[in-house]
Formats: sequence, C-alpha cells, structure tokens
Amino acid sequence: MTEHAVAIAGGGPTGMMLAAELALAKVDVAVLERRPNHVLVGSRAGGFHSRTIEVLDQRGVADRFLAEGQVAQAAMLATTVLDMSDFPTRHPYSLGIWQNQIERIMSAWIAELPVRINYGCEVTGFAQDDTGVDVQLSDDQSLRAQYLVGCDGGRSLIRKAAGIEFPGWDPTRSNLIAEVETTEELPRGIRHDATGVHGLHTMEDGRTVRVVVTEQQLGPSSEPTLRDLSEALITVYGTDFGIHNPTWISRFTDMTRQAAVYRVGRVLLAGDSAHVHYPAGGQGLSLGVQDAVNLGWKLAQVVNGSSPESLLDTYQDERHPVAARALQHTMAQTALQRRDERIQALVDVVSELASMDEPRKRLAGIISGLDIHYDLGEGHPLLGRRMPDLDLVTADGPLRVFELLHGAKPVLLNLGYPGGFDITPWADRVQLIDAEYVGLWELPVLGTVTAPTAVLIRPDGYVAWVGDRTHLGLPDALTTWFGPPTAT
Ligand SMILES: Cc1cc2nc3c(=O)[nH]c(=O)nc-3n(C[C@H](O)[C@H](O)[C@H](O)COP(=O)(O)OP(=O)(O)OC[C@H]3O[C@@H](n4cnc5c(N)ncnc54)[C@H](O)[C@@H]3O)c2cc1C
Repeated sequence: MTEHAVAIAGGGPTGMMLAAELALAKVDVAVLERRPNHVLVGSRAGGFHSRTIEVLDQRGVADRFLAEGQVAQAAMLATTVLDMSDFPTRHPYSLGIWQNQIERIMSAWIAELPVRINYGCEVTGFAQDDTGVDVQLSDDQSLRAQYLVGCDGGRSLIRKAAGIEFPGWDPTRSNLIAEVETTEELPRGIRHDATGVHGLHTMEDGRTVRVVVTEQQLGPSSEPTLRDLSEALITVYGTDFGIHNPTWISRFTDMTRQAAVYRVGRVLLAGDSAHVHYPAGGQGLSLGVQDAVNLGWKLAQVVNGSSPESLLDTYQDERHPVAARALQHTMAQTALQRRDERIQALVDVVSELASMDEPRKRLAGIISGLDIHYDLGEGHPLLGRRMPDLDLVTADGPLRVFELLHGAKPVLLNLGYPGGFDITPWADRVQLIDAEYVGLWELPVLGTVTAPTAVLIRPDGYVAWVGDRTHLGLPDALTTWFGPPTAT
C-alpha cells in the first residue's frame, strides 16, 4: 500500500495551499482530488482580501496573482465601500481575480514543489488507528497516511465520515449562478429588491455572461437547469435576455454552519469542509487559505517529530473563532442584501455608520483579515497579531520581513544589540536575524504601538513572543511553538 506522511482530500484552494505549506516544510504530502485535472468549471469566487495577499506574499508568490487580477477597494458593508487605502500594509486593497484563475496559478506553483497530486482520485472513506489512517479511494485502491486532512469542500465526506457535527443555520435563500451567452442587451449594475441581489456581467472574453439571480423560493438541492435560470430571470427582469449555451449553472444558499471540532485524532478539517456561509463579503476562500497556513507548519512539526501532537490543538483554538466571526459577519451582510423598505431603512443607517472613520477601520479590519488576533495571552499588542512587512537593514543588505518567511521557517528577529541572542538549541529550526528598523510600528485598526527590541515570528507570520530589552519568556515561547531544545 502507498504511504505518505499526510494525505489531503480535495485539491481546491485550501488543499493546494496546505500541500504547499507541508512541502515547504519537507513533509511527504499527497493531494487526492476527484476532478480529472486542476481545471475548475465556472469562475466561482471573485477574489480575496488583503491578508490573503499578504499570506501569499509571505511565500513569495503574491505577484503571480497580482499580475492577473485587478486591485480594488472591494471590502463592502451594505452600500458602503470600506476604503482601506490608509491601512499600514503593502497591499491596502482587495484583489479581483476569478477562482478558476486562482486555482490555475496555485496548481502551477505546487507543481514546482515536491507535492504529489492525484487527479481523478475520489476519497470514499477512511479508518484511523493509533499510528495512521487508511484512506479508501474510488477505484478500490487505498493508501495510508499518518494524518488525513479534509479539504473537500462544504459537503465534506471526511467531516461526515469522522462523525463531526456541523451545527448552524439551515438555508433560507438560494441563488442561481451561471455562465451563459445572451442575445439581448444587459441591464447595468447590480439590482437589489425584497428577494435579494441580482446581476449580469459580461466577462473578459466579451461573450460569456456571468449571471447571479436570487430565487423567489429556496431552490431544491438538485442540480439547476437552464430553464430554472430562465424562469428566475423572467421573474426579476421580465426577460431571460435570450440565455443559451451554458457552460456552468450552479446554486448556492445562505446555509451557515461550522464544524464543532476541527480534529478527531489523526483527521483534520480545513476550508469549506469546516465552515460554510453565503458568499456575501467574499471571505470563504480567504478563510480556507489562512486555515491552511495556520495548520501547515504545525502539522509539519508534529509529523517531523519536533513538536508534540498537542500543538495541533492550537489550530482549532486559533482558527475556530476566526471563522465563527466571519460567519456572523456574512449573516449580517446577507440580511442587508434584501431591500424591502424596512431593510432599506436599516441599510441606510448601517451605511452612514460604516462611512465614519472608526467603524470603517473596524469593519475593514474584519473583512480584510488584517485584524486577526490569536489569543496568545497578555502582553504587547503585537503578540498573536500579524507581523508587519517592515523594511529591514541587515548585514547582508536591505530585506523585507516577508522575504524571511518565504521558506515557511520561523524567525527570531533581533532589532536590538547585534549578537544579543543565542538560540543554539533551536538553531536547526529557527532563523536568527540581526537587523535594524527605523520607523513607526503601525498595526491595522490599532494604530502605532511601542517598538519591540525583538520578535519571534511563526511561519504563518504571526508574532509568538515580543522582546522588551529582556529575554524573559523566550525559551518557553520557542519550546511551545517549535518544540523542546535540542541537546547540545
Ligand atoms: C458564487 C460564489 C462566490 C464566491 N465568492 C467568493 C469570493 O469572492 N471570495 C472568497 O474568498 N470566497 C468566495 N466564495 C467561496 C469560495 O469559493 C470557497 O470558500 C472556496 O472554494 C473554498 O475552498 P476549499 O478548497 O475549502 O473548497 P472547494 O473549493 O470546495 O474545494 C474542494 C475540493 O475537494 C474536491 N473533493 C470533494 N470531495 C472529494 C472527495 N471525496 N475526494 C477527493 N476530492 C474531493 C472537490 O472536487 C474540490 O476540488 C464564493 C463561493 C461562491 C459559490
């Protein structure tokens, strides 16, 4: 039987990002994807927000996405654009880029890494024991892995087979989404009415039209047809615009659910398999990619034997609250999309508030993911927050902080007296960089914070320890996050 350290069910954005993270940490990883190749039929998500661009920048691949997309102020609440161009980040914007482009770029990236990706390979079940997981595949094959991660989307077989509960809210509203051709002139802009949101948009090829229409009644769980789409359009617009030649018709709902736990023994969940919600606000793909970046290095250290299995518990501790908050936020966004006169009154009030400076920053912080704060205890405001991408000066010349993270290895950044740290017992795992930084330390939403003399940065870019001229707590932080010291 084929064996791998980690098997990932599902090669969507979450599965591919996780595979990249594991491969960078030199873990033997196999992706099992039921599609015949990486091609995604239909455009699906329309992009991602600032923190996801940063996360890709931390791995040195953000430019590949930026080159194909359009940067824009696309974080919104109700009718208000939450302009974040004054946020202290190199990427104070969102990126408009279709999911099929995102997946093409990601699959080209992971093809450069030692990732084994098996297309046309559906996971049909698994059985776990004390030392690993036997994964059953559709063609009567199987493989064994030390860990199995379900990145297999909202209908996740892995989540169901693991017996993980998926509490939340049943759907109340459905939308049809499609790519078709039309014969009539299209209306401009997005329409809101008492049912929800509707729009038709001609895509880059000048021929294909992307249609999103809210159905009058909650649609069935069966696959929608061109006729369903035609009827839904006629109800809203009085015409179906002569739709024909569909390449993709799908239905999504406002079902909102989150896995009760993200791990059962050697089986974990990430991305849509762990949380589903209405796409209002455009946060789903970002959540999945960031789940992967949180889990990847932790799982790698457990598999490589440098950290105990308990490190995996911090994955749920940190990521479950982030998704719970995003779910709450998308439910609020969804409610504001229905525009009868009463809701319109609420939209007007919310929009006025959201255009004020303080609420704008708070809300943009949530949607962009730049305000994420993992609870790592009391201390300096940087603790548990993303490390800013500062311009450093080192003995080898100028360097950006994110460049230090390209290899997904932790960094102890010493901004005080050069040579002031000795981390020999962790030197095989942690980079020690002496550097200078002249300038303010500014965090999104919080503003300016006191300059630290050193910071310990995890591979996912979050700060695990902050120095204040003493080394107090550093050995504990190194042990907690990167394992016990190696005997010298
Ligand atoms: C209309 C729409 C618009 C959206 N817009 C945005 C947006 O603008 N921004 C944003 O961030 N998010 C958006 N989203 C959400 C986003 O598309 C998802 O959150 C994202 O695709 C989740 O990625 P994932 O990898 O976790 O899951 P998926 O993309 O669902 O990938 C799961 C993969 O697993 C495979 N698979 C499933 N079961 C098995 C199995 N048993 N064995 C092997 N393989 C399997 C599937 O083939 C698939 O490739 C939108 C969603 C919709 C529907």
